[in-house]
Amino acid sequence: MEALLDQLVERNELDQEELVCLLQQLKTGSRDRLFHLAVQTRKLHYSETVYLRGLIEFSSFCRQDCLYCGLRRSNTEAERYRLTEAEIMECAEEGYRLGYRSFVLQSGEDAYYTEARLIRIVTGIRRRCPGAAITLSVGERSEGFYRALFEAGADRYLLRHETASRPLYQSLHPGMSYDNRMECLRVLKSIGYQVGTGFMVGLPGQTLSHLAEDLLLLKKLQPHMIGIGPFIPHSRTPLGEMQGGTVDDTLVMLALARLLVPDALMPATTAMGTLDPLGREKALQAGCNVVMPILSPLRVRRKYALYENKICMGDEAALCRDCIEMRIAASGYRIELSRGDHCSYKERPRKYQS
Ligand code: SAH
Repeated sequence: MEALLDQLVERNELDQEELVCLLQQLKTGSRDRLFHLAVQTRKLHYSETVYLRGLIEFSSFCRQDCLYCGLRRSNTEAERYRLTEAEIMECAEEGYRLGYRSFVLQSGEDAYYTEARLIRIVTGIRRRCPGAAITLSVGERSEGFYRALFEAGADRYLLRHETASRPLYQSLHPGMSYDNRMECLRVLKSIGYQVGTGFMVGLPGQTLSHLAEDLLLLKKLQPHMIGIGPFIPHSRTPLGEMQGGTVDDTLVMLALARLLVPDALMPATTAMGTLDPLGREKALQAGCNVVMPILSPLRVRRKYALYENKICMGDEAALCRDCIEMRIAASGYRIELSRGDHCSYKERPRKYQS
């Protein structure tokens, strides 16, 4: 294991077979050195800083039917909601008052939020929250849509690849196309977005070889942001009775992702905090450097149920920030509320700035 880890750090390179071998060894052997290397690597680019993003989950309607997700359209028991344009802007404004300068707007794939509506929302947030970064995470859309929203002022886009294995991807995403997901990621990057991708750990049928493919895909794509979380079964989905992913397995993937993409911004996900009260802190000790407190109104929080027993369901935005700040500071990190751009990012002149 030592030799493979050295090779990974020194040459930033391992092939799939070597990665599988390393993953096997990490299942039983000590992970201390891996986590230490991951933390050292993060420090090179971002020192002890942990960036906060305010997460606004603005619609739980979804046209897709992903087998693992509680928001899938076939889940007729899911309670659906949509925030109005005014409500979304109020959420952002409240976050802005609390000091946030980075917002993530996430939803199911909800056609109600057309290009025109989302442009109004992005423009409105830019006007009311000057200097804040806006990240969209609204699934697969057309190139024209992505371009129009970028021009309206969206800076970043999150679209996890979910799993790099084509057969596994196809089995979990009825009616969707692996190639289209990859094409969306390519287009987003070419437009100039800071792009985030990532995957779930512990999906039914997922092997170490699949996980090695996930890591190699990250290395190939070199995304600006990487979101990795454990799969958590939701009882109202076809995978409800399956075993979920574990915090320990996810920590290994986070640390390896950090070594393969040293300058990525990597959130310690809510899913980690859901499985383990200290899950997000552990993720920071495995190389993560972003935390995303939820800003959505309390009355809708429970309804954005990708999985069950999600944390932070009862905390007002202000309280949520206090709680997370305390946790991050207690782990020895420095909280940063600025835009928190990727370290390679240079502000580019854009149409709307004239
Ligand atoms: N519709 C958007 C946002 C999806 S929800 C999109 O397509 O990008 C955000 C992420 O939650 C997903 O990308 C998926 O990786 C994760 N997720 C969904 N269901 C989950 C579950 N049951 N357990 C863990 N993570 C889940």
